[in-house]
Amino acid sequence: MAIFKLPDGRRLEVHKPGARLGDVLKELGLDPRLAKRIIGARVRSSSTGQGRAPEQYVDLYYRLPEDDSLELELLTPESPGAEWLYRHSLAHVLAQAVKRLFPKAKLAIGPPIEDGFYYDFDVPRPFTPEDLQKIEREMKKIVEANYPFERFEVSREEARKMLEEADEPYKLEILDELTEGETVSFYKDGEFVDLCRGPHAPSTGLVKHFKLLDVAGAYWRGDERRPMLQRIYGTAFYRKDDLERFLKQREEAAKRDHRRLGRELELFAMEDAVGPGLVLWLPKGVVVRRELERFEMEEHLKRGYQFVVTPHLGKAQLWETSGHLAYYRENMFKVDVEGQEYFVKPMNCPFHIMIYKSRTRSYRELPLKLAEYGTVYRNERSGVLHGLLRVRMITQDDAHIFCTPDQAEDVVAEVVELAFYLLGALGFRDYEIYLSVRDPQNLSKYAGTDEDWARAEAALEGVLNEKELPYKRMEGEAQFYGPKIDVHARDAIGRLWQLTTVQFDFVLPERFDCTYIAEDGREHRPYIIHRAIFGSLERFLGILIEHYAGAFPLWLAPVQAVVLPIADRHVEYGLNVLNRLREAGVRAELSYSPHKTLSARIRDAQLKKVPYMLVVGDREAKEGTVAVRLRTEEDLGPRPLDELIETLKRKIAERAEL
Ligand SMILES: [Zn+2]
Ligand SMILES: [Zn+2]
Repeated sequence: MAIFKLPDGRRLEVHKPGARLGDVLKELGLDPRLAKRIIGARVRSSSTGQGRAPEQYVDLYYRLPEDDSLELELLTPESPGAEWLYRHSLAHVLAQAVKRLFPKAKLAIGPPIEDGFYYDFDVPRPFTPEDLQKIEREMKKIVEANYPFERFEVSREEARKMLEEADEPYKLEILDELTEGETVSFYKDGEFVDLCRGPHAPSTGLVKHFKLLDVAGAYWRGDERRPMLQRIYGTAFYRKDDLERFLKQREEAAKRDHRRLGRELELFAMEDAVGPGLVLWLPKGVVVRRELERFEMEEHLKRGYQFVVTPHLGKAQLWETSGHLAYYRENMFKVDVEGQEYFVKPMNCPFHIMIYKSRTRSYRELPLKLAEYGTVYRNERSGVLHGLLRVRMITQDDAHIFCTPDQAEDVVAEVVELAFYLLGALGFRDYEIYLSVRDPQNLSKYAGTDEDWARAEAALEGVLNEKELPYKRMEGEAQFYGPKIDVHARDAIGRLWQLTTVQFDFVLPERFDCTYIAEDGREHRPYIIHRAIFGSLERFLGILIEHYAGAFPLWLAPVQAVVLPIADRHVEYGLNVLNRLREAGVRAELSYSPHKTLSARIRDAQLKKVPYMLVVGDREAKEGTVAVRLRTEEDLGPRPLDELIETLKRKIAERAEL
């Protein structure tokens, strides 16, 4: 039995195994205006399996499977998720336009991605910005023509013949890699035919609001030994406003790009000789990172967390027990140690659990909160690595809380309070919160007892209600091992970033046989809660750089004040000022060169986003003052040095912005 969820929230039970979605919709007797607007569905299978419920997007050609125990959420163009269909369709439109203008171009792949879509082409020379404009104009014509997308299925031999005739070597390679028995399908719109699984919008005219963004080289299959292709990126939105908002935000984001700012402000570097996704933190970047860690660590200590340090690798057996080898192996780096298999840690959990298990635990010790700035390594594909946002070396502000079932709600409340306190101090004030719970239709696929799940879900939900935090309840989005809360925070230019996670785990306490001695003198199972506030420090620092556009608040700024002597004869007093600042714990530098004018040096400091610029000349030297300028270009005039130092110390301690 398939459950159809309609855009208006109604649910219908449908039993039509083998039928096409488009045909089924016609027979449902829906309001014809609504029926006409449905372009596909998001499908969740309710068959058992561990981990996240498999989810896929399908179009009207989709055939309900013989075992149709599915949930189909029907999508109109406005529905969240519908963009996966129409963006994929625009990737075809892009390829179609390229083929019209560059008939010799060979087609590789063209998927929808998070913010849009791309298509890879093999062309004799890279596309120019003028080419992109031409291609975009051609795409507009194809959209205007509103060709329907027609799907047809052929045998492997026929497909091979078609692709050989079309002389599409990359498509032939894709065809060869399809598993035996897999359906071979093409989508056709107008004169354009593409080997594709789908799904697609019903026609090319559905989405008129699109834009080509960029072109970049990309190796075929991400393999540097294979040909370099040209990847054209684009985006599309159903509503014009949304496209405009996206483009504006993108422009603003480009100005704040942490990769450029990281270089200009000398925060971090990445070197080919080291390897992709491995970050080298430069001294100024380390200052920001250390201050952030110091702040966070103090707040953890106040709340009774205990810090631990654990190894970067462990025996295969450990990861066997934890289940990582079964579910996460392809992301783990293997190391050979004296002929034995070890793995570099992709997560810290097993080590914290081993610390918990290093002796008998009593209920009196609970909740036990073990925290670590744990550096883990994950074998992310090099194609998805991106600056600090996606790296292979990840330092988590990780903690595992071992508690009794009764303590769960208080523990969650404290984590949520801590998260909002820390994020609030960094200027994140707007959040989206997701509560991921079990799929009520399909309770059998989850580990742990009903009682534990009910208690954990109630704890999470209770805290959100208690604190009057608005949240979205995500039925069926929980991991198989426990429910969780995710916090997404909005940055200074309105982008949402997933940061804090509070995740129950009913599997690891079993797998590692964790126990504590309760008041009744007997052994009981503790709950384990995984939690991280900022998540990956690398990623979070990347986010912070963009959030602040490199102008860190005073307490985080790598250099808090720069002393600027006007002329040679003021350098001595300048050095005096510098020493006084440093003694007071202010991170200060002196900027002087006989070849550089004062205004040029002020401009340098401005570019480095130094919060305080202290100019010293004859008058200042005589009166023991400094002339204070802020990076906001505000001029505070002369201030007695002692007074300024006191002010700076206070502002730094208060974590003031400036
Ligand atoms: Zn396609
Ligand atoms: Zn964990």
